This record gives sequence, structure tokens and C-alpha cells, in this order.
Amino acid sequence: MNGSKLSRLLLALAVVGLALVLDRGAPPTRVLSATIAPTTTVREVAPEQIGFFSDCDNATTGSVGCGPPPARWVGGTVTFCIAPVGRPAGLADADFRAMIAEAAATWSRQDAGITVQISGDCPDAQVFGNFRNEVGWSQDLNVTDSNRAAATVGRWRTTLGGAEKTFVEADLTLSVRYALEIPRQCLRAVIHHELGHALGLGHSTTPNDLMFASFNPNVLASCVTTPSEEDRQALQSLYGTRRSVAFGSIPPAGASGLLVTPAAASGSDIVAGLGTAGCRAEVIGVLRGGQWALFIVGAPAQANAAFPATLPEATPFYARCGT
Ligand SMILES: [Zn+2]
Repeated sequence: MNGSKLSRLLLALAVVGLALVLDRGAPPTRVLSATIAPTTTVREVAPEQIGFFSDCDNATTGSVGCGPPPARWVGGTVTFCIAPVGRPAGLADADFRAMIAEAAATWSRQDAGITVQISGDCPDAQVFGNFRNEVGWSQDLNVTDSNRAAATVGRWRTTLGGAEKTFVEADLTLSVRYALEIPRQCLRAVIHHELGHALGLGHSTTPNDLMFASFNPNVLASCVTTPSEEDRQALQSLYGTRRSVAFGSIPPAGASGLLVTPAAASGSDIVAGLGTAGCRAEVIGVLRGGQWALFIVGAPAQANAAFPATLPEATPFYARCGT
């Protein structure tokens, strides 16, 4: 592959809009694939702008189901599994999992009302249309678009006469060919960017944004893994603001885990925040002087008296989620 081609590697947005119009029987379905002009210069863009996934701004066919309002997930948590086949042999399984977990954690701590969870391996191969959100691999991405390092496809349901759009599925597919050719930092950036699409974000016009549509593998600074303030605000515009209560993977129902406060929080703040992330907290605990101080949800106040009134920022704490 020549240098100019590499420099034009693009993160592509592919959209399948499934508009379920409630009063019209079978929904129209369109496949909207991306055609993105190569980005070779830094553009001077006055107002910074990040679109939404459901804008279908890169559409090459039709616009059924595209346009406002932006599609978003409901419920506060979206879960992805890792498709078990297709990973390039040169990329260690543990490294790949760590990159996905890192991207999930990054988007989960933008103080927006959405948490990204990774459930582990999917039960079988990646299939778009199975209502499961999958992260997988493809040999074929470069056949349809030689610049494409990854693609995200999503579909959504339109309800309330078009007043709401809710995602029903989003799949991330990474190019087997490029995964090992680009620097690891850029592969991390690709996964962060695609996960941003899967949460409902479109492309940014500004190169330093995570949602900018292209990167240059020869310029590591273009491989962004930290959301800009604009990326963060775009996510918050979809899901509202929520002061996060925890860094780390929120434990699934029936499990426990160790988390970290991103900001000062009380026991009840943590319980409420875990609730919005899908964890019905039963017990939270913190080590004080070598002993566990517990906050037991629903217990009389004196049982919780040993728990600190406020946990400072960056305090590790234990949480158990009920079933
Ligand atoms: Zn993109």
C-alpha cells in the first residue's frame, strides 16, 4: 500500500436506517453506505459541529428514516459483545478486549446519561439484524471502500409519529487488513470513534475531535482517543448530563466489582448513579482504616452510620448489584 493511500484511511459511517412507521405496516429499509472525500488538509471551520448518526449525512441512497430527531439508546445502558471469530492472529485477544473496554470506559465517563458495557464474547458469529450489538471483524470492508478502517451499522425505530428514534441495534466492524498495518494508537482511536457512532454520534468537522472522520496513521496525534469538549457535549445533548459516580465497569446484576469515584459523592449519590447505569445497588463499601465501612441500601440509618458522608474524588469503592 502506498503512503498516499494510507494517509487517506477513513473511518467510515455506514447506516442502515430501519424506520418502523407504526401505522404503515412493513417498514422501509435502506442501506446507506458512506462515500467520504479524502481529507488531506486541515480545514478552517468556524463553528464546530458534530452531527448525529441518524442524520445519514454520508448517504448515497435515499434518506428514508434519516434526519432529526437524532436516534439514541433508551435505558441508560447499552451493551456490546465481542464476536468470537475473525480477529487477526497478530493481535492478542487480551489486547483487543482491553481496547474495547477502554473505549467503553471512555464514553461512559463523559457525564452523559449513558453507560457502555461489554458483556464478553457473543454466543456466535456477528450478524447484523439479530438485535445484538456486536464488535466484529471483516476482510471485506476494503473491497467496498479501500479507505475504510472500520464501519458501524445501526438501525432504529421511529415512534410517536417521528418524535422519537430509538436504536435497536448497532454493530461495529473492523477491517482485518488495516488492524495490524496502522499503529496501535490508531486502532484504539478507530474503536473509540466507531463506538461513538454506535452511541448516536455522527461526524465532526474538526480534526481534533474524536468524531472527525479521518486520521493519518503517520501522525499519531491524529489518532484521538480522548473526547473533546464538543464530543462530550454532543453525547450529553443526546442523553442529558449525569454526573458519573463510577469509573470502571459497572458490575452486572448479581455481581460485584471495584469502582472509583470520578468526583466527590455521597453513598446515596452512588446508589442513584449506579441505578441509572442499570445496577440496582445492594451494598457499597469503602475501606477505612483497614476495615470495610458499608452502605447497605434500605438498612436503617444507624447501620450506614459508619459510611463516610462524602467519598472524595478518586476513592475506590466496592459495589454489589442486585438481581
Ligand atoms: Zn466515522
